[in-house]
Amino acid sequence: MSETAPEAAAAAIHTIAVLGAGTMGRGIAQVSAMAGFATHLYDPEPAALAKAEAAIQRNLARGVELEKVSAEAAEKARGALRLAERLPEAVAAADLVIESAPEDIALKMRLFQEADRLAPECALLASNTSALSITEMAAATRRPHLVAGMHFFNPVHLMKLIELVRGLETSPSTLATLRAVGERMGKEIVLVNEAPGFVTSRINALIGNEAFRMLQEGVASATDIDKALKLGLNHPMGPFEMVDLVGLDVRLSILEFLHRTLGEAYRPNQLLVQHVRAGRLGRKVGRGVYAYDERGNRL
Ligand code: NAD
Repeated sequence: MSETAPEAAAAAIHTIAVLGAGTMGRGIAQVSAMAGFATHLYDPEPAALAKAEAAIQRNLARGVELEKVSAEAAEKARGALRLAERLPEAVAAADLVIESAPEDIALKMRLFQEADRLAPECALLASNTSALSITEMAAATRRPHLVAGMHFFNPVHLMKLIELVRGLETSPSTLATLRAVGERMGKEIVLVNEAPGFVTSRINALIGNEAFRMLQEGVASATDIDKALKLGLNHPMGPFEMVDLVGLDVRLSILEFLHRTLGEAYRPNQLLVQHVRAGRLGRKVGRGVYAYDERGNRL
C-alpha cells in the first residue's frame, strides 16, 4: 500500500534529539521513543538525565501495569532511547532536534546556534517554548526555514495537544513534517502563527494570574478557587493545581514575557512573584501553592 502524505513526511524522520531532560524533555523523549523514533535525550546535568531515565522507566512500567502499553511496546521504547551527556553526540545523527531547555531566550538562542552548527544540514529544529519567539530562535541559525515551534503539554505522555508554531520563515514542508511527527506520537495538532504565548499559554497565564490576584485579595482560599473552576466551569484542574504542575517559575517567566510584549493586562501578580522568590516552585520541589510528599501526593 502506498504511504499517505503525512506518513511519508514522518518517514523522513528517523532520529530525534531532545535537548533538556526536565519535566517536559523527558516526556517528549518518552513519546518519541514510543512512536518508534531513535531518541537521544541530552542534558548538561548528569543528575537530570538519571532522574529523567528513572521517570520514563516508571511511566512505562505503569503503562504496562494499567494495560495501556504492551510489554513489547515498552521494551521497544526502552531500546529506542539513549541518554547523552554531550550535545554533539546527541544531535550528530538527528533528523529533528526538539529543544526543551529552560524558558530563557538567550539560552535557547545559544542552544539553537550550537544545534545548527552540530546537527546535519537538513535536520529540522523545533522548540518546546511555552511563549517565546520562534522567529528569534530561527534567526540564530542558518536554516530559519527548517525551524518551528512544537509546544507540548504536561504530562506529555497523557496530553493530546501540540501547538505547531509557524515562525516568519518556517517553510510549509517543515510544518507538514512536524505535523506528521506529532501525529505519529499520537497527538492532535493545531497550527498557530507566531504570537506571544500562542493560544494556550496566553489564555492560561491570564486565568492563573487572576487566581493569584483573588487569593491575594482574600476572595477565597486556594482550594475553593480550584474547586470553583473545576465544578462550576468544568475545568479538569484548578488554576493552582495547574501552576504547581507547570512550575511557578515557568509561569512567572511566561507572564513577564507576555507583560513585555502584550502589555499591562499580563503584569505578574505580586503573590506569584513572592512564591517564586521563596523557592515555592511547585510539585517539582515538593512545595508550590500546595505542599507534596516525596511521592508527589498532596499533603
Ligand atoms: P525544567 O526546569 O524541568 O527542565 C529544564 C532542563 O533543561 C533541566 O534538566 C536543565 O538541566 C536543562 N538545561 C539547562 N541548560 C541546558 C542547556 N544549555 N541545554 C540543554 N538542557 C539544558 O523545565 P521544563 O518545565 O521541562 O521546561 C522546559 C521548556 O518547556 C521551557 O521552554 C518551558 O517553557 C516549556 N514548557 C513547559 C511546560 C511545563 O508544564 N513545565 C509545558 C510546556 C512547555
